[in-house]
Amino acid sequence: MIARLIASALALILAAAAESAVAVLVVEGPAGSGNPGFYDKLRAALAILERSDEPNLRRLHAAAVAAPGRISFREMTDDPASWHSDGNPDRGHTEPDDGRPKREGRDRPADATIFIPRSALEPGSARWRSGLLVHELVHALDLATGRYNRNYVLRERRAVFVQNLWRQHIGFQFRDSYHGKFPTLDLQFASQRGTIPEYLNYLYTRKDFPDPPPAAPAGGRPR
Ligand SMILES: [Zn+2]
Repeated sequence: MIARLIASALALILAAAAESAVAVLVVEGPAGSGNPGFYDKLRAALAILERSDEPNLRRLHAAAVAAPGRISFREMTDDPASWHSDGNPDRGHTEPDDGRPKREGRDRPADATIFIPRSALEPGSARWRSGLLVHELVHALDLATGRYNRNYVLRERRAVFVQNLWRQHIGFQFRDSYHGKFPTLDLQFASQRGTIPEYLNYLYTRKDFPDPPPAAPAGGRPR
């Protein structure tokens, strides 16, 4: 009798776990959201990552699916509610669903929503090639795993690292700065030194990142 109770309780727990495992990437809009074309493109774009020839892109997708927090997506439209807080209607962004400030960081898994323009999901477009989807997936993964650093420079260096892996894979120029505010040369540096696995270890197990590469000498090129 007790064994049966335990077995049925276990079955319930397993069912709940299975349900949450499929629910972590929410690739549909809220009822009546009226933009199904966006979600069709989103599913196709995510499938491309899932089946990529580049193992690090497959790994990012798999980690997002397996993360304890739920990751949802919204299309950026004319509605200012879908825009970045700086008022730029084109700038993709990822927000914690709990509404608390990003500067608090997150030590525990938090649900996240990626806001992204439809053009970033259209293979061949400039925004697709730029790797915006991959960049935002890293932010969402950091939230959904509780590895969201309170320092935005660290968050952005982590996101651009994988974004540059994407760019390398498709033959697009590296992103070498974050909107001109600070350099994003981690992948370039790690490639030269053969230390990409170390950076990936940071990315998937902790919330910080190796020290940035030393600045290039004045007038010289980064080595
Ligand atoms: Zn970012």
